[in-house]
Amino acid sequence: MALLEINDLTVHYGRIQALHGISITVEEGEIVSLIGANGAGKTTTMRAIAGLLGSSGGSITFEGNDITKMKGHTRVAHGISLTPEGRGIFPAMTVVENLDMGAYARKKDPKAYAEDLERVFGLFPRLKERAKQLGGTMSGGEQQMLAIGRALMARPRVLLLDEPSMGLAPQFIRQIFAIIEEVNKQGTTVLLVEQNANQALKRADRAYILETGAITREGTGAELAADPAVKAAYLGAD
Ligand code: ATP
Repeated sequence: MALLEINDLTVHYGRIQALHGISITVEEGEIVSLIGANGAGKTTTMRAIAGLLGSSGGSITFEGNDITKMKGHTRVAHGISLTPEGRGIFPAMTVVENLDMGAYARKKDPKAYAEDLERVFGLFPRLKERAKQLGGTMSGGEQQMLAIGRALMARPRVLLLDEPSMGLAPQFIRQIFAIIEEVNKQGTTVLLVEQNANQALKRADRAYILETGAITREGTGAELAADPAVKAAYLGAD
């Protein structure tokens, strides 16, 4: 049984159809990447999986249960956590207060909370150094770390990452992807969407190409990275 299964999902914005029946499977322990250009429907897919957006057809199954109609906050409690595009951190809150917001959906268990905070600080020493700094004054790369850290505070079984590399300098992009790999090694399944496919394919067990709301190719990260059409469309300079 797959951990997360999206089957023939459609999403409409009024009369505009953004997703035309997409199917994606994420197995426990995998890193799966969804690659697509501007407007392909990447954010729509992530928001639909997180329960922030209703679907007009198809189904989403998590751990064998149909969650298609489940509310977003209930999905967080079940183990689905989203780091949104643009990060969505709270600029007037400190780093630790931002991280606390991620733990909000879980029952307050001080021991588990302390463990989670240590784990996040272990992954992101910079966040520990800057624990009392306001989120809004962190650099772009630090804010991305904070957003991922906050999502991890919910102890997700699957972490959804919407364009984690957006707006970051190359060395930060590599660093963020190395951390994503580490999070995955520690046991969290990852589904990420990216426009810049270099790192996203390199690090992925499997990947899908999304074009104008439909999946057009799928394969292992290595297969897609070697595909001439994928190379031409998505693989720029690293
Ligand atoms: P980007 O990389 O530019 O963020 P994306 O792949 O995440 O793009 P989406 O944001 O999912 O793409 O958008 C998919 C399609 O749905 C686009 O054509 C977009 O214009 C449309 N769309 C998104 N949000 C809305 C909305 N609230 N109302 C109407 N159309 C929308």
